[in-house]
Amino acid sequence: MLKGTEEACPETAREATGLKQFDDLREAFLTMLGHELQTPISIIKGYADTLIRRADQQNDKFLLQGLRVIEDENDRLGRMVEKLLFASRISTGTSALEKEPIQFPILVRNMVRRLKPLAGSHSFEIRFARGFPPVMADPGLMEQVVSNLVENAIKYSPQGSKITVSGSVSGKRVLVSVSDEGIGIPAEKMEHLFERFHTVEDQAVHVAKGMGLGLYICKAIIEAHKGTIEAASQPRKGSRFTFSLPLEDV
Ligand code: ADP
Repeated sequence: MLKGTEEACPETAREATGLKQFDDLREAFLTMLGHELQTPISIIKGYADTLIRRADQQNDKFLLQGLRVIEDENDRLGRMVEKLLFASRISTGTSALEKEPIQFPILVRNMVRRLKPLAGSHSFEIRFARGFPPVMADPGLMEQVVSNLVENAIKYSPQGSKITVSGSVSGKRVLVSVSDEGIGIPAEKMEHLFERFHTVEDQAVHVAKGMGLGLYICKAIIEAHKGTIEAASQPRKGSRFTFSLPLEDV
């Protein structure tokens, strides 16, 4: 059947093979690049740390300020490389799930506390239904999902606005949502939102541009847990990302 299709349509078959090879090559290149970048990033971090301590002792404010910028940007680069490697582990299926019972209200509260320094004057509301059950899932990966969604909510909504994380039970699934009062996402961009390297170009917002990996990673993690994730948004009003996970016996 496939052979017949190939013969009937040789160009398409060749294109498909070419695309697969291109995808494999891109995967290998990104993984290699990610690994190669890890060493210089940690060396820069080590030197920046040492020099910051010295500049601090000598009370050299100018030097201190410059070194802190180097440290922050290096940390940002480090996080991007981590995401890149993580995304490639997911797409090659080399990340195994280590499930245990997770208390989402606690995980979310801790994550929000950890992200507070990023959040400036945003306020947070955490609203879980009473008796929200424990969910069998990989805790490290769930932290990654919640932190990607909350970081995006912070990045794409104005200072002073509210971010709500809520949880409820619907039949044999739990639903967790992260809502913001931010810039929203144009309707025509919604379809490709969860694809790798997809970013929304025309958003009038001045934030450090990401690589478009966060939502792709969230979707891959949630689907690996047999869940679903979706977005709803109204431009200039806000966005809501909701993921569902099956309730298994704990
Ligand atoms: P990035 O690293 O670029 O933030 P993501 O995959 O997390 O990558 O997000 C992809 C794109 O979706 C972002 O570039 C942004 O344009 C849009 N986006 C994600 N979350 C939100 C949100 N809460 N509000 C508005 N736009 C968002």
